Amino acid sequence: MSLRSVDPATGKVVREYEEAGDQEVARALERAQAVFADWRRASFAERGRVVARAGALLRERAEPLARLMAAEMGKPLPQGRAEAEKCAWVCDHYVANAARDLAPEEVRTDARHSFVRFEPLGPVLAVMPWNFPFWQVFRFAAPALMAGNVGVLKHASNVSGCALAIQDLLTAAGAPEGAFRALLVSSERVGALIDSPAIRAVTLTGSTAAGRAIAERAGHAIKKTVLELGGSDPYLVLEDADLESAAETCVKSRLINSGQSCIAAKRFIVVEPVRKSFEALFVAKMRAKTMGDPRESPDVGPLARRDLRDSLHEQVTKSVERGARLLLGGTVPDGPGAFYPPTVLADVRKGMPAFDEETFGPVAALIAARDEGDAVRLANDSPFGLGAAVFTSDQARGERVAAAIEAGNVFVNALVASDPRVPFGGVKESGYGRELGRFGIREFVNIKTVYVK
Ligand code: NAP
Repeated sequence: MSLRSVDPATGKVVREYEEAGDQEVARALERAQAVFADWRRASFAERGRVVARAGALLRERAEPLARLMAAEMGKPLPQGRAEAEKCAWVCDHYVANAARDLAPEEVRTDARHSFVRFEPLGPVLAVMPWNFPFWQVFRFAAPALMAGNVGVLKHASNVSGCALAIQDLLTAAGAPEGAFRALLVSSERVGALIDSPAIRAVTLTGSTAAGRAIAERAGHAIKKTVLELGGSDPYLVLEDADLESAAETCVKSRLINSGQSCIAAKRFIVVEPVRKSFEALFVAKMRAKTMGDPRESPDVGPLARRDLRDSLHEQVTKSVERGARLLLGGTVPDGPGAFYPPTVLADVRKGMPAFDEETFGPVAALIAARDEGDAVRLANDSPFGLGAAVFTSDQARGERVAAAIEAGNVFVNALVASDPRVPFGGVKESGYGRELGRFGIREFVNIKTVYVK
């Protein structure tokens, strides 16, 4: 069996990779266990030297890494360079903060001395998606390595080149052999990896379906999981918002990574008094965006795979059949590649795929709400709960709406973005557990109580 990388702009095969055999997997897991025994004893300063060097290498190699992302999953070059820089940031963040985040905590009890220690768990399996092929991995790897864990990566099958580049980079940074290992295996073999006694915990960033399969298997093996899954993030535009700036932010959020981001804005819930003016601004800004080969730095590149483009188009078609108004885009372009144009649907309602499902591409759903209360109700009427934003000129109102929304991250007058300093994750079918910040580095640790009488 082989794993294939296909350039989504041209449809041409970039490279085929041989899958790892069972023996190679067994050796890698054995090595991970052996290296963990040493790595867990390394000091924060020793681990920090490796992770800091990884950050420096990410900056040095930003250009070739961006080109690799463009070739394997179609990311426009400027966004690929920015992704490498953001990975360096998360490395720097945990180098600076891990010792403080994991410092033992004294607890006053009736003991002579009682405290909590945060100890690493062991090899953690990371199952990762293609959409941010470096960022998703580094936001797991930087805290995991700093906490003293080691990583085993099963990356998405279409970005094997990125998986190997990450392994090379960490090795060049001085990580001991096996402390971070990319295994080129198909998703059918993830279950056996979860079952292996060498694997102590599992993290997945991906679709809700994959999350369900992994949680079921890991549950059976009694292994901790963190699940970062899909989303259908609502952006609420209230009547007192700065409409020009709200529309600009909404379009930016919908089109980031060509619309293939878990926290891209997907549903735009606009209250009646400003519905028409917002619609006009929004459509004009979406229309102005360019689409093209990711190496020519367009606003929107191709989607990562043709099958994903085709299912997105089906979601649009079904939504229109069920009464949505198509204001822009909505047609599959001729030619090779997996392109889909910026698309706007209005009058979107429950019962349409654009409302009920995640749309993973540049398709915006405009949804009308009577007032603030109705907007919050519509925002929460979703199986997902990852991110959300609200636009209003009244800070107290923004914070009140933020409290009423069922999501892991709510931003007021800003685009929802992950940031190493604050926790990131979802509720409902968007998953559980947190990455980033102090909460993220504490996910894969043994919170150990020590009680001295
Ligand atoms: P995906 O199909 O779920 O794939 C993600 C990873 O899971 C890949 O490595 C894939 O391997 C593996 N996988 C798929 N099905 C599996 C199964 N049944 N058992 C074990 N492993 C399985 O998702 P995707 O299409 O690559 O990525 C897009 C999804 O990820 C979207 O829903 C998006 O919202 C979500 N996402 C969430 C976040 C977040 O932080 N919440 C961030 C980014 C993306 P193969 O490639 O070999 O199938």
